[in-house]
Amino acid sequence: MIRVNPHYAQLQTSYLFADIERRVRAFQQRRPEVDLIRLGIGDVTEPLPQACIEALHKAVDEMATASHFRGYGPEQGYDFLREAIALSDFQARGAQISADEVFVSDGAKCDVGNIQELFAADVRVAISDPVYPVYVDTNVMAGRSGAWLQNHYQNLVYLPCTAATGYAPQLPDKPVDVIYLCSPNNPTGATLTRAQLQQWVDYAAAHKALILFDAAYEAFIRDDALPHSIYEIPGAREVAIEFRSYSKTAGFTGLRCAYTVIPKTCMGWDGDGRPVSLHALWSRRQTTKFNGVSYPVQRAAKAIYSPAGQQQVRTLSDGYLANAQRIRDAFQALGHTCTGGDNSPYIWVHTGSDAWEFFDMLLEKTGVVCTPGAGFGRCGQGHVRISAFNSAAQVDAALQRIRAVLQT
Ligand SMILES: *Cc1c(COP(=O)(O)O)cnc(C)c1O
Repeated sequence: MIRVNPHYAQLQTSYLFADIERRVRAFQQRRPEVDLIRLGIGDVTEPLPQACIEALHKAVDEMATASHFRGYGPEQGYDFLREAIALSDFQARGAQISADEVFVSDGAKCDVGNIQELFAADVRVAISDPVYPVYVDTNVMAGRSGAWLQNHYQNLVYLPCTAATGYAPQLPDKPVDVIYLCSPNNPTGATLTRAQLQQWVDYAAAHKALILFDAAYEAFIRDDALPHSIYEIPGAREVAIEFRSYSKTAGFTGLRCAYTVIPKTCMGWDGDGRPVSLHALWSRRQTTKFNGVSYPVQRAAKAIYSPAGQQQVRTLSDGYLANAQRIRDAFQALGHTCTGGDNSPYIWVHTGSDAWEFFDMLLEKTGVVCTPGAGFGRCGQGHVRISAFNSAAQVDAALQRIRAVLQT
């Protein structure tokens, strides 16, 4: 008898975005004349930078010749990309990361999920509330969450991120082993300061804990005082793994390229309390289960680091940030308190009402799709996430409708 993984039965309802889609489809059937504007799902809308397109074409042509054809590449990624990453994304910011500490992959989502394979089954996991649902659901699948108790999982330690905490997670009041941090944050758009990150690094060092730092939105940081990488924080090399992605940075959501950094000094611990290199474990895992990102895609990613590429991705994120600013201004003018949108493409709007109710109201009255905060956790109640991932014209059209209907 092929028994299935019993932990899957602990997963709660459908994935958030499937839930939203169901409501949107029902609305479209009832009101086919309404032109929907999506400010909901966290996907980019603008095409790939020209530098990436050129690199892709060139790499495809190389694959067409026997002399330049490439078969399996290194599982950890090609040196040309890993070196560009180490130099531009870390060393240039004073973070001591070397090329061989970078693992190129086809997505931060899968890396964030897969990394748990390196941890014992009974490690205690801390997640922010609200949170990117992937952190929670992958822990449920792995059997770390325990039972669902009405509105939370028994064994997860939730770190409330509310207006009272400035939407930043506070240190836990019970011991934890793995801590998920995401800055700039999805869904709240909030960012962690150097001092806040230092607090977490110190906590992890004191408790032999590990920080999983998701920096998928790093490219949206404009405030010079904010750290772009956790490795800008003293001590982080010993206690943190960082995840980056070209998805939001460079419009790679459909192309697929990301990377994970595991410093060689970052340790886990065996049953006898002896240190074990997480870099070595992940290397073993990746070489066994992963065969690398395609050569043309890695060439496209490398092109981001050329002067033209740098300028083009800056233009992309500038465009989304300009949208974010207008969205934030519009909701603030309607009397809602907002966070995010200045160093992130998401605006976390305090609705004051039930989040799903606000979602339905906005959809019914304006045809604009947002994301109910309650879908991201208990503390997301009373908030919605508005995404700046859309064309300027679509954002303006949405804001015009919202002003027309909601302004009193
Ligand atoms: C979009 C996103 C990612 C990126 O995932 P990919 O698999 O690289 O596309 C990672 N983390 C968060 C929080 C995200 O919102």
